Amino acid sequence: SEISQETLRSVLAQFALEGDVLSVEPYGSGHINVTYLVVTSARRYILQCMNTSIFPDTENLMRNIELVTSFLAERGKGTLSLVRTHDGRTYVEDGGEPFRVYDFIEDTMSYDQSPSPEVFGMAGEAFGVFQKDLAQFDAGLLSETIAHFHDTPARFEQFRAALEADPLGRAAGVQEEIDFFLARRERYGIVMDELASGALPLRVTHNDTKLNNILFDASTHEPRAIIDLDTVMPGSLLFDFGDCIRFGASTALEDEKDLSLVHFSLELFEAYTRGFVGALRADITEREAELLAFSGQLMTAECGMRFLADYLAGDVYFATKYPEHNLVRARTQIQLVREMEEQQEAADALVRAVMEETA
Ligand code: ADP
Ligand code: MG
Ligand code: MG
Repeated sequence: SEISQETLRSVLAQFALEGDVLSVEPYGSGHINVTYLVVTSARRYILQCMNTSIFPDTENLMRNIELVTSFLAERGKGTLSLVRTHDGRTYVEDGGEPFRVYDFIEDTMSYDQSPSPEVFGMAGEAFGVFQKDLAQFDAGLLSETIAHFHDTPARFEQFRAALEADPLGRAAGVQEEIDFFLARRERYGIVMDELASGALPLRVTHNDTKLNNILFDASTHEPRAIIDLDTVMPGSLLFDFGDCIRFGASTALEDEKDLSLVHFSLELFEAYTRGFVGALRADITEREAELLAFSGQLMTAECGMRFLADYLAGDVYFATKYPEHNLVRARTQIQLVREMEEQQEAADALVRAVMEETA
């Protein structure tokens, strides 16, 4: 998917940039969009060709980003800043592909690897600040650009459909893993049900809380901006918190084959919780706090059943490098859920302690 310099230059000509374009080069290590660094005679920008196979609804996606970033900017908070086109639009289409431009956020750094407790705590703080800054934003204004993204009961139904279809006859070999997810079915609806009843507040969720989507100040290491807002949607803060715990409080990668290396780390959980709750303070509700530790289990189980469903379906959704790759991933998630369940009381006690300290 090489885009010619000629196309890139003609796309850029439609945006109200300062200075003359000197260069446009591929940039960064994102996997979803195609990202370029644009250098002009006046300053630097980020140009992105958006991924329409993952996000077909560009109009609503850009509207979500515009709503969230303008809310933050009006309150003086660090955020992405969209550059408009000469006729005031937030993106252009060229050859069927949508493009947008952001101001380059200068003098920042980010982390790519699996975090130390210190770095993971900083990530918790960054996402806590993001939630705090958006606490007064009406998340009901946002579109659900990917329907049922963290709707665990809907994910469970998809898992059951894959199990029923079993097109490759793989189910017989993984009965233990299947039973694991069937046995926990009563818990999958807790967050969705309480969002619906109003017991949990509807908030902005980021939904792609990877470490490299946080830009930290290069000298002070304070969080400067949360970027990569394509997946911002209405939901519960438990979705983001739980997903961070899923990948960040594990001692191994998501596709580690040696399960003896895969553990839920209470130390990493505590670091993230301190950062997150410390930044949010009174803006987190009692009920959200009660469910923080549980949300790690819920998001890990949801992800695990998606991996297992994809294994049963014949590896149609997640990219795989070998035939059992999705099964290996499902097994790490199962192991993590087991350990999170074993340590739930300790994790709940930690949350309560942090809540009291920061009250
Ligand atoms: P993807 O969805 O592909 O991960 P991102 O929006 O995260 O795309 O962008 C990819 C990378 O480009 C980021 O990880 C970051 O390094 C860099 N980047 C994106 N936007 C900016 C920006 N406004 N300023 C500085 N760097 C940015
Ligand atoms: Mg990214
Ligand atoms: Mg992204």
